[in-house]
Amino acid sequence: MPNPSNPRRLPGIVLVSVLIAALAGCATSPTGRNQLLVYPADQLDAMGIQAFEEMRSQLTVEEDPEINAYVRCVATAITDELSDKNTNWEVVVFTDDNPNAFALPGGKMGVYTGMLKVAENQDQLAAVLGHEVGHVLAQHGNERMSQQQITNVALAAAAGSGYVDSVSMQALGLGAQIGILLPYSRSHESEADIIGVDLMAEAGFDPRESVQLWKNMEKAGGGAPPEFLSTHPASTTRIDDLIGKMADALHTYNDARAKGKKPECK
Ligand SMILES: [Zn+2]
Repeated sequence: MPNPSNPRRLPGIVLVSVLIAALAGCATSPTGRNQLLVYPADQLDAMGIQAFEEMRSQLTVEEDPEINAYVRCVATAITDELSDKNTNWEVVVFTDDNPNAFALPGGKMGVYTGMLKVAENQDQLAAVLGHEVGHVLAQHGNERMSQQQITNVALAAAAGSGYVDSVSMQALGLGAQIGILLPYSRSHESEADIIGVDLMAEAGFDPRESVQLWKNMEKAGGGAPPEFLSTHPASTTRIDDLIGKMADALHTYNDARAKGKKPECK
């Protein structure tokens, strides 16, 4: 005889929904998009810092003081515009010919020396870094990992196996680099473009140079795109979208210049 205090057995999909609702924080991205975020922000920060330390130990850190001062000047101008003053941003230059750059949760930024040949001036480098910081501000890493996690939970539930075990195992076993350094989706890319062009303009960098940057990227791509290019395709759609944002960005830029924000990074 069944115990009347036992709840009726719920179908897997209801259980999954309850679990996701319990785990997930509902959030809104800086451009107003609804996001499902499963992981606490401080966990992403810890993963970002761990991934960064792994990269620092694997790559060659650039020692040239002028190059470091130049990159730090641009990066600081960008991060000074962020409303979150609790994050202590660190930027490291890596000696590597690939035109690559990244920003990670936890306030870490990396720029390869190869990027300085594609981003030809301070404004273009600001476009790169504004875009990368945009990914972090919009919590794209958390969102992407959350989507993967939910897929895993749903698959495990559908298979009728112990989904809770699957959740905890995935959370524990996920390598920091694997979780954080995958290519972003097209919607994440265009959101990072929107945030980035705004951020660079607020810091007093010329937003029109973002268009030239992506044209340079396209040219640098050639036959076999290096890492950054394969994860950040410089499509004509992307360039057209940026041009569409330019009137607003120029307004922001002119305001910033009028307020005396005139970075001179050399
Ligand atoms: Zn991107």
